[in-house]
Amino acid sequence: MTLERTFIAIKPDGVQRGLVGEILLRFERKGFKLVGLKQLIPSRELAEKHYGVHRERPFFSGLVDFITSGPIVAMVWEGEGVILGARKLIGATKPLEAEPGTIRGDLAVDIGRNVIHGSDGIETANFEIGLWFKSSELNDWNPADHCWRVE
Ligand code: UDP
Ligand code: MG
Repeated sequence: MTLERTFIAIKPDGVQRGLVGEILLRFERKGFKLVGLKQLIPSRELAEKHYGVHRERPFFSGLVDFITSGPIVAMVWEGEGVILGARKLIGATKPLEAEPGTIRGDLAVDIGRNVIHGSDGIETANFEIGLWFKSSELNDWNPADHCWRVE
């Protein structure tokens, strides 16, 4: 396992539905470390860059409309295997196919309102972290109970 960082965003539906605390709790409880967090309303340019890989897909413009429609909570989480680990906490893209116990499995129904984004690999994580955060907005710190989490 290697120490990684991943980009996580609570989408506008998650913020509007008051799910920010619920979602943060799941990442904290798992044992991942929060190293950056801010709330913002993304510009269209930022949203289009973030979802650039989906530019040709039919849902692209609706997705960008939705992501720019209100505040999101953007975060960077750090930990051993956090990229895949976060995807497991999040669950499948289609919430009705996401396992109960996952964020999407527990909290969402519709693919267009699936509450949360998480980077899907190392390259995507590095790209997305750089897109959404300045390095000065990310903190290196050691949790006081670190030795109780990892050897
Ligand atoms: N999406 C959608 N319709 C689709 C596929 C995707 O609205 O048919 C949205 C959905 O919100 C999803 C996002 O586009 O979370 C990005 O799609 P991706 O396949 O990357 O899913 P994710 O990585 O978020 O699980
Ligand atoms: Mg994706």
